[in-house]
Amino acid sequence: RAKGQGTNQAVVFDAGMSVEAEERHLLEKELRKALEQEEFEVHYQPLMSTQTGEISGAEALLRWNSPKRGMVSPMNFIPIAEESGLILPIGQWVLNRVCREMKQREAEGWPPVTVSVNLSPLQFDQPYLVEQIHSVVTEHGLEPSRLCLEITESMTIQHVDACIDKLHKLNEMGIRTAVDDFGTGYSSLSLLQKLPISFIKIDKSFVQEAGASTPLVESMISLAHSLGLGVVAEGVETEEQLNTLRRLGCDFTQGYWIGRPVPLDTFNARFPTGKVPLGNGSLR
Ligand code: C2E
Ligand code: MG
Ligand code: MG
Ligand code: MG
Repeated sequence: RAKGQGTNQAVVFDAGMSVEAEERHLLEKELRKALEQEEFEVHYQPLMSTQTGEISGAEALLRWNSPKRGMVSPMNFIPIAEESGLILPIGQWVLNRVCREMKQREAEGWPPVTVSVNLSPLQFDQPYLVEQIHSVVTEHGLEPSRLCLEITESMTIQHVDACIDKLHKLNEMGIRTAVDDFGTGYSSLSLLQKLPISFIKIDKSFVQEAGASTPLVESMISLAHSLGLGVVAEGVETEEQLNTLRRLGCDFTQGYWIGRPVPLDTFNARFPTGKVPLGNGSLR
């Protein structure tokens, strides 16, 4: 009897797996098509200078506007793009689009901002990454210091020396780099000290705790500052969180309280002066 049950479970389990595998396969096929048919868009979320309220940057966030599925969150397709290698052409598309849109913004006379682009582990691992970044920036004539590349702690651990080398080369070009989702990975403090980066971005899980209890955020900020790094806090959703971060000396804040990710036109219209009156919820 026990054996029979086991067999049944195995059958159910297998069927479940194949449905999942099929869905993955389908999604991969659709992503390939999405790339060809330009179903992707980039939305921009403001980064505010915590002390002055100035909009000094924007994070570029990929959106998939699928005719069949609607707006698909990157969380639901980046992992599959990563596994299938499709993230490489998609990542190239994002870099191109962002550089082009930033030049367009500049040409229209809006105040300059620094734009952050997320890199996936596979992208960062490519031996040609530095050349790729160099050509996209040169081709579009974007000032390199206006581009910041976001990597995660886990990406830096596997091939530490190669990673440091790449970051150095990007620095020499004038490109900024940031460690995203800081505090959620496994990097050691000594590794952080060795990485030639410009910013850490404190993960929203810590920031959203910061209304009540602040020791972790406070230590991350002072650690970063003692290493000469700037600090961005992600996921700021309330005025209380913003006030806490301001008191703790956090350099930049990002989150729904300041502004959600929006298409470039909306971004430009919403932040025409590059400043946001602090605490004005109507701007969200
Ligand atoms: P991330 O780089 O950590 O980006 C921040 C995420 O937090 C974004 O989610 C953003 O919309 C969301 N967020 C911003 N403010 C708040 C807030 O106040 N509250 C909450 N709850 N969330 C907030 P999104 O756009 O869904 O992107 C998810 C992740 O997908 C990103 O996390 C990034 O890792 C990845 N991703 C997005 N675009 C790209 C891309 O072009 N390339 C790669 N490789 N990954 C990307
Ligand atoms: Mg990011
Ligand atoms: Mg990220
Ligand atoms: Mg993050």
